[in-house]
Parts: sequence; C-alpha cells; structure tokens
Amino acid sequence: MPVPEPELDELYRELILDHYRSPRHRQPLAHPDARAEGYNPLCGDEIEVEIDFDDGVISDVSCRGRGCSISQASGSMMAAAVKGHTVEEARSLTAAFKEMMINPDAEPSEALGDLEAFQGVGRFPVRVKCATLAWHVLGEGLASGDGGDHPQGENHA
Ligand code: ZN
Repeated sequence: MPVPEPELDELYRELILDHYRSPRHRQPLAHPDARAEGYNPLCGDEIEVEIDFDDGVISDVSCRGRGCSISQASGSMMAAAVKGHTVEEARSLTAAFKEMMINPDAEPSEALGDLEAFQGVGRFPVRVKCATLAWHVLGEGLASGDGGDHPQGENHA
C-alpha cells in the first residue's frame, strides 16, 4: 500500500527536512523524571521521550527515534517547542497540534509557531499518526511524571 506524500509548502518542507536531518534534543537525559515510548505501526515510526521536571516546568526533554521524516521532524520540533515551558503549556500545545491535524483547514493556533509547518499533513489522514506520535508519547511522559510536584515531600518551601 503506497503511502501518499503530503504536499507541503516549500518553506515548511525545508523546515521539516532540516529537523529530520539534524534533530534537536536527541541527547539522552542522565536521570529523567519521566520517560515514554511509542510506535506507529502504520508507518513503522518509533519515538522515545525523556523529561526532566523542575517545579511544574519541563526543564529538559530528549526525543529520539526512527522513522519517516514527518515523525522524526515532529519529535524534534515538539521537543524544541516544550522545553522550558510548563506542563500546562505543553498540554495545551499538544491539544492545539492535534486540533490542527483534525481541522487542517482552520486557522491554526498562534501558540503553535513553527509547528504550523505540519498543518498540511492533516489533509493526509494516513500520515497524521506520523505527525502526532511524538505528541502522544510526550503526553504519556507528562502523565507518568509528576510535573515537579512532590506531594509526599512538601518540605522545600
Ligand atoms: Zn511515519
């Protein structure tokens, strides 16, 4: 079954290829607070995410994987987008990204910034899972981590 290649705006295509060829934030974290991994059987994409939390902020994030350019570029750009942001912000960015995939003809949220590059992928349902894989894995990592709150040790105040 041939997988259709989304037609993407030239500038965005370059951005995606740049992240695919030179993925950001691939360095594994020494002692990650949370980690998660995911697999997209439709395309064979793999993504592994590690997260460090500091008081509700994603202080560091690592994203590594294998697969098609859309899945890997999405992971690289996801990591760059959420690093230094709060867990709350990362969750709302995830929601905005998924919303853009569901409604590719709507105006994407301004918060997405460069992630708008993936908007055209939404018109190719078979590739949407490539683009959203990293975000699903991030969500699992956020859920398994505690966001920096340590309810059993409220002694740092
Ligand atoms: Zn893929």
